[in-house]
Amino acid sequence: MTEARYRRIVLKLSGEALAGNQGFGIAQDMLDTVAKQIGEAKKLGVDIALVVGGGNIWRGIAGSSQGIDRATSDYMGMLATVMNALALQDALEQHHIDTRVLSAIEMRQVAEPYIRRRAIRHMEKGRVVIFAAGTGNPYFSTDTTAALRAAEIEADVILMAKQVDGVYDCDPLKNTNAQKFEKLSYLEVLSRGLGVMDSTATSLCMDNDIPLIVFNLKQNGNIIKAIQGEPIGTYVGR
Ligand code: UDP
Repeated sequence: MTEARYRRIVLKLSGEALAGNQGFGIAQDMLDTVAKQIGEAKKLGVDIALVVGGGNIWRGIAGSSQGIDRATSDYMGMLATVMNALALQDALEQHHIDTRVLSAIEMRQVAEPYIRRRAIRHMEKGRVVIFAAGTGNPYFSTDTTAALRAAEIEADVILMAKQVDGVYDCDPLKNTNAQKFEKLSYLEVLSRGLGVMDSTATSLCMDNDIPLIVFNLKQNGNIIKAIQGEPIGTYVGR
């Protein structure tokens, strides 16, 4: 097996990715695909931290557009990420992968509180950590959570698992002429307004020099390929 290029990674899974083809909720086959790929990746000896989104269940902005107070709606979104985190933990454990969920909002009956040093210690012991409840603050996203946690735990890269195989100049699902980028700089992502991640998250990655690889989760083996440095998807860096 080829060696890993990265020592420690943050894998960002959007809620959408967990919904798979059903488009909402949690699809068992997607949990299974992710768990299998993470099991393979662990064999490369890489430290793995997951940040999971919640858009398959609830998005703060959507709730607030229906009249719910924005901060309240965002807290609902953060709770949705905890549900996804528990589902992922269960899937990983079914594949015999040691896992800990660390929540940015305290809920000791279901998850450990997020403590940076503890997260690092878990990874040193070979456990996969799942960061739940986003940053714990409304008005942020789980993309920003991925950038923040990656900086905190000194991850070498963020792997952004998507439903498409990279970053395009327009939506490839709507436009057949959409062009895929192999490589982009953070500034290009920001100035072109590309939908890789939100601007807060992109800036945080840029300021802390954390590269991103955007790739398609549905293609089996892609997580390993990304970890081994194979050129898949789109690379965003300096
Ligand atoms: N959220 C938040 N603060 C955070 C992270 C998430 O308020 O630090 C809320 C926000 O309402 C967001 C929802 O949680 O819409 C779900 O997260 P996100 O939209 O990032 O999920 P994804 O798009 O990755 O599925």
